[in-house]
Amino acid sequence: MISTALLKEISGIVGEENLITDQEQMAEFSADATKMARMPDGVAFPSNNEQISRILALATENGLPVVPRGAGTGMSGGAVPVQGGVVLAMDRLNRILSVDRENLVAKAEPGVITADLQQAVEAVGLFYPPDPASLKVSTLGGNIAECAGGLRAVKYGVTRDYVLGLTIVLPTGEIIGTGVETRKGVAGYDLVRLIAGSEGTLAVITAMTLRLIPKPETKRTMVAFFENVSMAVQTVSEMTRKRIVPAILEFMDRLCIDCVRAEMHLDLPRNSGAMLLIEVDGNPDLVAQEARIIEDLCGHCGAMAFQGAADDESAEGLWEARRNVSPSLYKLGPHKINEDIVVPRSRLAELVLFLDSVSRKYGLPIPAFGHAGDGNIHVNVMLDKEAPVQLENGYAIVRALFEKVIQMGGTITGEHGIGIAKAPYLAMEIPVEGIQLMKRIKKAFDPKGILNPGKIFT
Ligand SMILES: Cc1cc2nc3c(=O)[nH]c(=O)nc-3n(C[C@H](O)[C@H](O)[C@H](O)COP(=O)(O)OP(=O)(O)OC[C@H]3O[C@@H](n4cnc5c(N)ncnc54)[C@H](O)[C@@H]3O)c2cc1C
Repeated sequence: MISTALLKEISGIVGEENLITDQEQMAEFSADATKMARMPDGVAFPSNNEQISRILALATENGLPVVPRGAGTGMSGGAVPVQGGVVLAMDRLNRILSVDRENLVAKAEPGVITADLQQAVEAVGLFYPPDPASLKVSTLGGNIAECAGGLRAVKYGVTRDYVLGLTIVLPTGEIIGTGVETRKGVAGYDLVRLIAGSEGTLAVITAMTLRLIPKPETKRTMVAFFENVSMAVQTVSEMTRKRIVPAILEFMDRLCIDCVRAEMHLDLPRNSGAMLLIEVDGNPDLVAQEARIIEDLCGHCGAMAFQGAADDESAEGLWEARRNVSPSLYKLGPHKINEDIVVPRSRLAELVLFLDSVSRKYGLPIPAFGHAGDGNIHVNVMLDKEAPVQLENGYAIVRALFEKVIQMGGTITGEHGIGIAKAPYLAMEIPVEGIQLMKRIKKAFDPKGILNPGKIFT
C-alpha cells in the first residue's frame, strides 16, 4: 500500500487534478480486455517527459510499482497493476506531432489512437499499415509495447517494422532518445526493437517516429469456401508459388463458419470446412491481374464457392462473416480461452487436425480463425468456466496446444504478448539461458524492478 506522503509527492508532480485515488474512478484502470483485475493505489495522468521522469525516479527510490497504460485493450493482462502501485495513464500525451510527406515519417505521442494516426496520414496520401482489430480504441504506445499485429501483417509486417525512433523514460528517470528519424540507421544496439514488444516492462514510451509508405491506390476483396482446410492451405501455397502476397489473407474453420451462419443468418455455403478472405492491393492493373489469378487458383484447388467484391460496399458484405466470428462463438459456450499461437502457414491443416483430436479427447469445442497468411491463428477453447472439470480440461488443452505449436516450429503468442496470462508457459518456448538473459536485460533497465512488475516472468 502506497503511503499518503508518496501520493502527495506524485500529486505535486502532475497536479492534484491529474491524480485519482477514488476507488470508483480507478476501477476502469484496474483491468484490461482479459478482465483480470487488481485495484491500483493511484492513477496519474502525466503530460510531459519531465513529469514521467520524476515519478519514475521517485518510484525507484521508494520501490513503488508503476504500470504504463494506453487504452487497456491488451489481451494478456499487461496493463493490470498486479502489485498495486501507480498506473501511468497516457491519455494526456495524445498529439500527432508531425506528418512529413517528403521523408515519409510521422511523429506522435503514445496516447494517440491508432485509427486517428491512420486517418491523418491517409488524408495526405500516405499509409501506416499496422491495423490491430482494436485500432479504433487502442493507442500507439500500447501497440508498440505489445508489437501489435493485424490483418495486413501478412504483406506489410507488424508494428515494430514501422518504428524508427523512440523517446523513452527509464525506470530510473533518465529521458533517452533512441533509434533514428531517417529510413536507415545502425548506430549501436537496436534498442527500438528491444522496446517494441517489451510490454511496458523496460521503459515508458513518450514519443515515437514512425515509418510511412505511400497509400495503395486500390484494393480488391474476395472470399472463397472449401470443403476442408487442406484445400484452403493448398490455395495459399499456390498463391505464394505465383508470387502473390495478398494484403489480407484470413481463415475460418468449419465451427466458425457454422457459428456465424447461425448467429448472423448469413447465406454461407453448407458443409464448408474452411473459408479464406483475401484482399489484394496496389496499382489498379496489378490488383485486377492478381484478383484474376486468385480466382483461378481457388477454382483449381476445388473451392465450392467464390465471390469477388466489385466495389467497397460489396467488399463490406464479404467482411461480415469475419467481423462477426468472435462474438458468434459464444453459441458454443459461455466463456472462452483465447490463444493467439503461430505455426508455419504451410502446416495450418495439421494444426486444425490436432485441434479436432484434442477437442474430441476433452469434450470441448475449439473453433479457430485468424491470419492464414502469417500462420497466426486465434484458437478458442469454448467452455463454462464455472464448471471445474471443463476449466481443468480447458487448461489441459492450452498446454497440449502450446506443446504442439512449439514442436511445429511456431510460437505461443503472435501478437497478444505474455503479460500475466501466458507467463506460466514462457519457459515452454524460451530456454532457461534465454530467460536468464532477458532477466538481466530487465535488471539493467530497471534495477529495482518497479516498472510493470509481475509481467512476462513468473
Ligand atoms: C477487440 C480487440 C481486438 C484486438 N485485436 C488485436 C489485433 O488484431 N492484433 C493485436 O496485436 N492485438 C489485438 N488486440 C490486443 C490489444 O488491442 C493490443 O495489444 C494493443 O496494442 C493494446 O493497446 P492499448 O493502448 O490498449 O494498450 P494497453 O492494454 O493499455 O497496454 C498494453 C501493454 O502496453 C504497455 N504500455 C501501454 N502504453 C505504454 C507506453 N506508453 N510505454 C510503455 N508501455 C506501455 C502496458 O503496460 C501493457 O503492458 C485486440 C484487443 C481487443 C480488445
